[in-house]
Amino acid sequence: MNKRSRLKRCAQLIGAAVLSSMMMRAQTAAPTAPDHPSIIIQGQTFTPRSILARNMGAPEDQTTQFPPHKIIGNLYYVGTKTLSSFLVVTPQGNILIDSTYERNVPTIQKSVEQLGFKFFDIKILLGSHAHGDHQEGDALVKQLTGARVLAMAEDVPALQDIKPGGKAHPIDKTLRDGEAVTLGGTTLIAHLTPGHTRGATTWTMKVLEGGKSYNVVINSSLRAPTVVTPAIAGEFRRSFKRVRSLPCDVQLGDHPAQYNLQEKYSKIRSGGPNPFFDAVSCKFETDMEEAMFRAILDEQKKAVR
Ligand SMILES: [Zn+2]
Repeated sequence: MNKRSRLKRCAQLIGAAVLSSMMMRAQTAAPTAPDHPSIIIQGQTFTPRSILARNMGAPEDQTTQFPPHKIIGNLYYVGTKTLSSFLVVTPQGNILIDSTYERNVPTIQKSVEQLGFKFFDIKILLGSHAHGDHQEGDALVKQLTGARVLAMAEDVPALQDIKPGGKAHPIDKTLRDGEAVTLGGTTLIAHLTPGHTRGATTWTMKVLEGGKSYNVVINSSLRAPTVVTPAIAGEFRRSFKRVRSLPCDVQLGDHPAQYNLQEKYSKIRSGGPNPFFDAVSCKFETDMEEAMFRAILDEQKKAVR
């Protein structure tokens, strides 16, 4: 290599290093949200920034395993400290809801196996909504398990933009609002609850525990964006109404903070009644996000005047 080509190679290497450090920074930069408006619900103050921080935690919380555990019936938690992943176990194979980040897939696999199930028994992969922190790992889960990936039709364009390492996002079947997904005697219903994304999906299912049937609601995020367009406002108004209409004994969410997992998990460990039965939790997240949505709209209107 002569001097000129050595210099050129050196410049290329520096360029590549700068680019990759910029990309790393872009990947690891914490998402931000404004610290206004602020609302008070049941004595707790929230801002868009505090809600986002509550949901995401620190970067390491998003990738650190939360102890896998049974929630109720045939429903289990296999996610990280701040990104939920749920496993529904049936005699004909299992259903996974939310693969989260691709780098979390080995952690989810470990959690499934620690509960005594086989990761390769996942037959169906579902999602809460088309954001990378919830569905980036879909291609890898499909590659490892052969699961069919089902997606709400309205989220398909956004899902197709999630391509870790250039892998195409797998979608084996699109779902319509109200469609049922059944495996091994368990049925989940897909409710279109848009606003946060166009195809955000709230999942409901009935579980059996102690010979009784209970209604589980697995919420997708109802967090409004910083700027709410009239079209998105219309989506949220319909979604808040829709979520409230769902019968609920046990409420879960795509981030554990949406249902106070930390506190509930400590109660499981101390014994006593199943802490996931929580009538307050069934309403709180929707009430809080709707109050924030209205406060953001009010602020927008004032800014226009
Ligand atoms: Zn999201």
